[in-house]
Amino acid sequence: MRVLVTGGTGFIGSETVIKLIENKYEVVIVDNLSNSKEAVLDRIETITGVRPTFYKVDCCDYEAFRGVFEKEKFEAVIHFAGLKAVGESVVKPIEYYANNLGSTSNLLLLMKEFGVKSIVFSSSATVYGIPKRVPLFEDDPVLSATNPYGETKVMIERILEDACAADKNLNAALLRYFNPIGAHPSGLLGEDPNGIPNNLMPYITQVAIGKRDHLRIWGNTYPTPDGTGVRDYIHVVDLAEGHVATLKKLVTNPGLVVYNLGTGKGTSVLEMVNAFEKATGVKIPYTIEEPRPGDVAANYANCDKAAKELGWKAKYDIFDACRDAYNFQQKNPNGI
Ligand code: NAD
Ligand code: UDP
Repeated sequence: MRVLVTGGTGFIGSETVIKLIENKYEVVIVDNLSNSKEAVLDRIETITGVRPTFYKVDCCDYEAFRGVFEKEKFEAVIHFAGLKAVGESVVKPIEYYANNLGSTSNLLLLMKEFGVKSIVFSSSATVYGIPKRVPLFEDDPVLSATNPYGETKVMIERILEDACAADKNLNAALLRYFNPIGAHPSGLLGEDPNGIPNNLMPYITQVAIGKRDHLRIWGNTYPTPDGTGVRDYIHVVDLAEGHVATLKKLVTNPGLVVYNLGTGKGTSVLEMVNAFEKATGVKIPYTIEEPRPGDVAANYANCDKAAKELGWKAKYDIFDACRDAYNFQQKNPNGI
């Protein structure tokens, strides 16, 4: 089976490409390299022995993107391409709507024209907005996210719902990722943020290698067991496997399907710091700061649906993820 992977040189995309190759899929990557590097292809080749076909194309460039569909034939698409920084999306909402919605509408038009009937979409736990209760279930209401980035996910979910309602042969999986962390166990691929990391794990690994002084913990008075924020951290290799399981589901022609991809377990910031220290032997100094605006106290998934319908479950724990993220950071102190 030949699969188009948009955003395939990114953090989650590259890991998924490896799993696809390991499962004998043929992969074609389209990425504009706005948030990733071409060197990722060398590393995928080192790990798998296969160099995926690559097009440096912006999915918002309809003609260039159409050129890829004219040259290649696909049976399915995994659509990772998108801008993903929550804070930046508040400052640059127009760029976020244009990029994330424009790339997706081009993709869906081209899938229609060229008869491609299956798409896996990278959605996010952010579509649940401020949760009324946790864990979150797939049929919990999706009303409004708390920032423009999240709104693009809500809107694209809606577009895919409408597209599936209009075309009974179209299959779309909305995968709501919780918090992806970790790295490829080889240390060759991992999260490679530009500038100061916003997310917890890359910040911790940069403190661990001495690139940052200390971690700032955003608030310790939340209604959680130790007062710090609780999230559902999932190892990126598990997440990648979830995409392979989803492709297998889509060939059964299910129409629109929605899955939470998480571990089902909440971990607080302090628990994560302790786990990191235990897994790596490196001490992480921290200070307690005011809560970060827009943060929710606790957010974690119920993942029974993915277990039941996809036969998929996260295998790794936060200790594995801390070890792998640190290994990647040590081997790539200045990124890929
Ligand atoms: P990433 O930035 O590492 O990967 C996204 C890739 O898409 C990058 O390589 C970037 O160059 C590419 N891209 C962006 N716009 C493009 C365009 N117009 N045309 C072609 N390529 C384009 O991000 P990631 O963490 O791997 O996330 C992948 C997907 O998963 C994104 O859609 C993101 O919103 C979603 N997601 C990520 C997280 C997370 O915490 N990492 C959580 C939930 C959902
Ligand atoms: N966090 C923190 N310090 C940081 C980055 C994050 O205390 O430098 C906390 C944050 O408040 C949240 C958790 O770590 O409770 C996860 O944050 P992240 O940004 O990684 O994920 P998100 O909040 O988007 O789920």
